[in-house]
Amino acid sequence: MRYSNLFGKTARDYPKDEVSVNAKYLLKAGFIDKLMAGSYTLLPLGFRVVEKIKQIIREEMDATGANEMLMPLLHPKEIWNETGRWDSAKDIMYQLKKDNKEYGLSFTHEEIVMDLIRKRTQSFKDFPIKIYHFSTKFRDEPRAKSGILRGREFLMKDLYSAHVSEEDLYKYYWEVADAYIKTFKRMGLDAKIVEAGGGVFTKNITHEFQVLSEIGEDTIYYCNSCNFAQNKEIFQGKAGDKCPKCLSAGSRQAGKIIESNSIEVGNIFPLGTMYSEKMGFYFTDSDGSKKPVVLASYGIGSTRVLGTLVELYHDDKGIIWPESVAPYNVYLIAIDNEQKTIVKEADKIYESLTGEGIEILYDDRDVSVGQKFNDADLIGIPIRLVISAKTLRQGSGQAENKIEWKKRTEEKGELISLDEVLNRLKKAQKS
Ligand code: ATP
Ligand code: MG
Repeated sequence: MRYSNLFGKTARDYPKDEVSVNAKYLLKAGFIDKLMAGSYTLLPLGFRVVEKIKQIIREEMDATGANEMLMPLLHPKEIWNETGRWDSAKDIMYQLKKDNKEYGLSFTHEEIVMDLIRKRTQSFKDFPIKIYHFSTKFRDEPRAKSGILRGREFLMKDLYSAHVSEEDLYKYYWEVADAYIKTFKRMGLDAKIVEAGGGVFTKNITHEFQVLSEIGEDTIYYCNSCNFAQNKEIFQGKAGDKCPKCLSAGSRQAGKIIESNSIEVGNIFPLGTMYSEKMGFYFTDSDGSKKPVVLASYGIGSTRVLGTLVELYHDDKGIIWPESVAPYNVYLIAIDNEQKTIVKEADKIYESLTGEGIEILYDDRDVSVGQKFNDADLIGIPIRLVISAKTLRQGSGQAENKIEWKKRTEEKGELISLDEVLNRLKKAQKS
């Protein structure tokens, strides 16, 4: 992509009312635009990152045997009335009326999934079912200061699984928990599995995926020795306590409880039979008896992940994207000479690397080199390539076709050949 062609460039003028680092950098670097509080456009750069996040999630969900599909966002009131959530979730759900009919905008999909499966299954042979989609969620969130971490309209991957028994549910539930840890790791996020309450979803204990961060809105307590972790809302104790899990396991060296702020990037819910019972949804088991379907749901906030990555990976110059989710692999800058021959070289390099499947943002603007360097740091693409008369050693009598290679995470660059550039980029692509 030639930068001159990119819609959504770095901006000096952007809404300054945002206090969070994620919103400031994403707005300034041209990844998002703000429509109103809690509502953002994903500009082309932001869209590319979210697509990479989604692709990682998709690969890991598919590996558990789940099917991707897409469900509607405008829901009839009647289905929500079946579980009573039209009323009990009315604070969070946008509800509207048109021509005397009432609708809700999706804040989640349990009722809709149950209605869907109810129409398409009969016996135990039709289970288990594992279906998911990526779509928009609408939630009437109180005004918050967390930028894109808390939208009123945001993107979520939600997966639903339906089973004939609790035992079958939990087998898959823990498989998805493992897939979530792997998913987050691939994006550069080290998530902890934290026990929590189920809010408007369930009375059962649920599991959140929390990433430690100063700016996180959640508080969690976790053990520095075992995998014990609980959300503040259910933890009975305080920082510095001996870990209750270590103690009950009889460990002589019980770990210590640490308190931390954290960002919830995912949440999984073993919902059980509450939804099917309320919706009168029973399947016929192998012995002919009627049993309620056992349900679980699993969410990851794709746009919250975008913001979380910025909160974790930045410095005072801008964003530092992990390679796996960076909008482009390479930021290419040409420092031209008077004969205008350097830009011609850069054009060639851009064409040849693009032909090799390398994703390049080529800063071909007619602006100062200083501005290009600043924007490269702000946008945060992992590799910066600079080509100039100096790197080509033109006019030195022994011209060398070298390019400056610099990682966003490093201060100094090095001069390497185009072949070596390609080698390194190909290697990174494979890993
Ligand atoms: P929170 O406690 O932060 O309000 P939640 O527990 O209500 O979130 P869930 O219903 O568990 O959210 O939704 C699943 C996932 O969707 C969350 O783990 C989070 O990653 C994401 N998410 C939830 N609410 C928002 C929001 N308002 N903006 C962006 N992402 C969100
Ligand atoms: Mg949650």
